[in-house]
Amino acid sequence: MRRKRALIVTGVIAAVLALIVGGLYWAGRSLFYEPTARGVDSVIGELGGTRVLGVFAHPDDEQTVNGLFWRAKDRDGAYTAMITATRGEAGHQSPTVGRQEDLGDIRKAEALKNSFNLGVDRHVVWDYPDGGVPESDADEIVARIVEELLLVEPDVVVAFWPESGATGHADHMEMGALAERAIGPRGTDPGLGLVTRSIIDQHFSERDRAGRLIRAVLADGRRTGYGIDEDTALVLEGGTSHVLGSGTVTVIEPGGRLRRHGTGETVAAAHTRS
Ligand SMILES: [Zn+2]
Repeated sequence: MRRKRALIVTGVIAAVLALIVGGLYWAGRSLFYEPTARGVDSVIGELGGTRVLGVFAHPDDEQTVNGLFWRAKDRDGAYTAMITATRGEAGHQSPTVGRQEDLGDIRKAEALKNSFNLGVDRHVVWDYPDGGVPESDADEIVARIVEELLLVEPDVVVAFWPESGATGHADHMEMGALAERAIGPRGTDPGLGLVTRSIIDQHFSERDRAGRLIRAVLADGRRTGYGIDEDTALVLEGGTSHVLGSGTVTVIEPGGRLRRHGTGETVAAAHTRS
């Protein structure tokens, strides 16, 4: 009798909890609903991709895009690969599934098993410190991502948005930024760091380089391109800049808009380091 009563009480509590959670979801459902979003069968298929590389920070980061990788393989027959930068050894266990000193091995194994089940063709798990990616050797990580890019030759790279890292985790943000840097050097060079948010090309009109700069700017999506002719300079002064010399400076905005500026003209969108 007492057991029956306990069961009823538990059932009532569960029902009330379910009502509360359901009510909260209903009240905040607009947060989960994007009216302009379009459902697609496969993100990679929609993009026309055939080779995909995911760049992540921790084992189980890939869980956020399991569906993307699974559909890429299952529907489109794409070649899929992943990088995980750390073994996730600093994770908090709840419930505890192993000795804390073994956690890196356990999570690495879980990540490899998960990607195998998704049909992922290649998955490397590195051993940068969990929680210490921003303090790690950035140039080395970029070089290792570039190695994977050359090996996998992806037409789509899936990585964290550097500004948010999806969860605000510093490792996620850093890996997103380093993935961007790694993609950049294939055809562009990091430069001297004197200007920011810019891609600069020289001998521009003389060597007919508009096509490659437009491609670089569109692929990058955030930086403005500056094509500088021979015997021409782009003079950066504070927040503005102007053209000096016999040729022109061609400015290509991230959206692809192209403008040419002759000597003496001010160039508005230059991003100078202040
Ligand atoms: Zn993570």
